[in-house]
Amino acid sequence: MEKEILMQARGITKEFKATGGIVHAVSGVDLDIYAGETLALVGESGCGKSTLGKVLLRLIPPTAGSIQFDGEDLTAMNNKQLRQARQKMQLIFQDPYASLDPRMNVGQIIAEPLRAYKIYKNEKDEEERVRALMDKVGIRSEFYRRYPHQFSGGQRQRVGIARALALNPKLIVCDEPVSALDVSIQAQILNLLHDLQKELNLTYLFISHDLSVVRYISNRVCVMFLGKVCEIRDTESLYSSPCHPYTRFLLESTPQPDPEKRKEDKELLMGEIPSPINPPSGCRFHPRCPYAKEICSKEEPTLQPCPGGMCACHFPLKQEI
Ligand code: SF4
Repeated sequence: MEKEILMQARGITKEFKATGGIVHAVSGVDLDIYAGETLALVGESGCGKSTLGKVLLRLIPPTAGSIQFDGEDLTAMNNKQLRQARQKMQLIFQDPYASLDPRMNVGQIIAEPLRAYKIYKNEKDEEERVRALMDKVGIRSEFYRRYPHQFSGGQRQRVGIARALALNPKLIVCDEPVSALDVSIQAQILNLLHDLQKELNLTYLFISHDLSVVRYISNRVCVMFLGKVCEIRDTESLYSSPCHPYTRFLLESTPQPDPEKRKEDKELLMGEIPSPINPPSGCRFHPRCPYAKEICSKEEPTLQPCPGGMCACHFPLKQEI
């Protein structure tokens, strides 16, 4: 069956002025997000994944590129049209405490988007909806008038999720949603996100640096390095046999629970991440790549088909069948 594309981004570029020059945060990224999937965006800090997430929601404008979302061109919209479209796209933040206003109680926090879009005419209907949302995310509705500081980190993230669900979105960008939580709580929140996705047919763009979390939650993974997509593939193919040397490096840097699975081969070296102000020519990974040949510093590799997706490398790694 043909998969339905919910969001299609083409040539997304985001540059910022900074002391020392122009930061090339995101450079010519093409991305399709399918309805009902969880697409993870991974990469080291500074690779542009959070910036790309914000651009896709049009929270910041792209320097270049176009974004189609649910049949509409987000990049051609005026502010009024964007405000309407934003009802269908929400964001869950890394730090629920910082994103919840400490002076508002939970009922007010979850009701905020409903009020901003004047969804209900009377308070009773609004309160009923908020209590139903609390129930959906596993917060007891008698906590309606409690304040954020009276909740644990996991409960606060549940409140953030309830607020993100208030307007019945289609797409939720989850930006490191569990990285501030204890591991045992992380699993609960990931399971909640998974259950909500099934029940409400949600699509997630899941931004994370944590590859074990990503493996658990995502259907596909997009690996970024210095503002570029290295590899975008279905999760199992990518984890079992990475195509791009950078993906392999990331996987090998992640502690493996099973020592048998840990690769002996440690030839990939960390090295410094080059500056996004002056990115390397050709393949941006070439100064760190042990497989680099002459062409790598001269010609930029483009995304080419590989098993389960696409990879941008002149010398993709051999696939282990
Ligand atoms: Fe390494 Fe060359 Fe592939 Fe870049 S294109 S990842 S430098 S082998």
